Amino acid sequence: MQTFVTRQEIIEWRQQMRGDQKQIGFVPTMGALHQGHLALIKRACSENAEVVVSIFVNPKQFNQSADLQAYPRMLEADLALLNGLENLVIFAPDEEEMYPKDLPFSPMPLGRIGELLEGAHRPGHFEGVVHVVHHLFALIQPQKAYFGQKDFQQLAIIRLLNTYYGFGIDIIGCETVRDADGLAMSSRNLRLNAQERQNALAISRALHYVSNNTGKYPLDKVKQEARSIIEQAGLAIEYLEIVDPLTLENRSQWQQEQVCCVAAICGEVRLIDNMLCESVL
Ligand code: AMP
Repeated sequence: MQTFVTRQEIIEWRQQMRGDQKQIGFVPTMGALHQGHLALIKRACSENAEVVVSIFVNPKQFNQSADLQAYPRMLEADLALLNGLENLVIFAPDEEEMYPKDLPFSPMPLGRIGELLEGAHRPGHFEGVVHVVHHLFALIQPQKAYFGQKDFQQLAIIRLLNTYYGFGIDIIGCETVRDADGLAMSSRNLRLNAQERQNALAISRALHYVSNNTGKYPLDKVKQEARSIIEQAGLAIEYLEIVDPLTLENRSQWQQEQVCCVAAICGEVRLIDNMLCESVL
């Protein structure tokens, strides 16, 4: 395993890989790695000759400075977790290295998908995600890049980004990894105390409720019941919507496939999760 912190190191390594005709896989992360990240990284390792994992807490995608400050940072533990995986390059730049002052960037219009769900509640978030992923794709030039379905809307926006800037990368969406009790793994879970973690289980309970009742009762009723499951556990819902998997527009009637997307505040921690809900009808 090699660890690089400068763009120049990556550029030189990339040139060498091109000479060797090695296929590169890429997994962008913000660190505080858990089994969800590890599933992406292991899949990338099994499908590519070399894999780059970036670890960078991207200030541009945080719309609240308190959230940025509180975000867990644990590079040494992250490196220890990855130690032993072969053909792995870690790219852990600082902010100046990630965003050189003289590096131009033309923002991409996010369109309607950028206004919905996370876009409506975290102004500037996706603009920041697009900025960093654009720079990382341009620098690393992977053939394949791996993203979690846990960040469902982000994955849709990354697919747009790939087309918009013409990267031609194979974007691979990976299933959400959950703890045994259903909680979607997240670096933010580290900030939950024992009681809050218990309360947070209401999110996956609500998603399972929607998934199990898709097509059985009117959509609005199922949505209302899902909301009350979360609220009864003491969480504050930012949104709970049942949406079209491609456009992310709200559904008013069940169709074959929809995704239930939730953002809720548990204690001081904002959690998101989603589940594909297929109609039995
Ligand atoms: P983050 O470090 O939170 O920016 O996440 C880095 C990548 O890991 C993103 O593509 C996430 O969607 C993905 N990811 C985070 N949590 C999970 C999870 N529980 N299961 C699968 N992928 C995940």
